[in-house]
Amino acid sequence: MHEFSIMQSTLETATQQARAAEATQIHRLKVRVGKLSGVVPEALRFAFTALKTGSLADGAEFEIEEVPAVCWCANCAAEFEATRLNYECPRCHQLSGDLRRGLELELTALEIS
Ligand SMILES: [Zn+2]
Repeated sequence: MHEFSIMQSTLETATQQARAAEATQIHRLKVRVGKLSGVVPEALRFAFTALKTGSLADGAEFEIEEVPAVCWCANCAAEFEATRLNYECPRCHQLSGDLRRGLELELTALEIS
């Protein structure tokens, strides 16, 4: 389950940032997960629960923000929501190779003290 290694590196990043700020506790963590990132939010949450014990994030609130997949159609000059593996513009039916959102996997907020 690759969510475990993802969560592990996210926690490492958060811990490094907390230590750099001389904080001893992480209160809240927020990650942004794109619909096409291949990460299952429930699995990520489960990994967090399993990995937080003994870390600075033990007791922290964990938030996941899901981002829909959005493609850009150059023909219509418009964005549209892409469904899984279908990047076809609903208006002109041209295939878009320009995926603008949906692959994110990042730590977006961290509350420490
Ligand atoms: Zn189009």
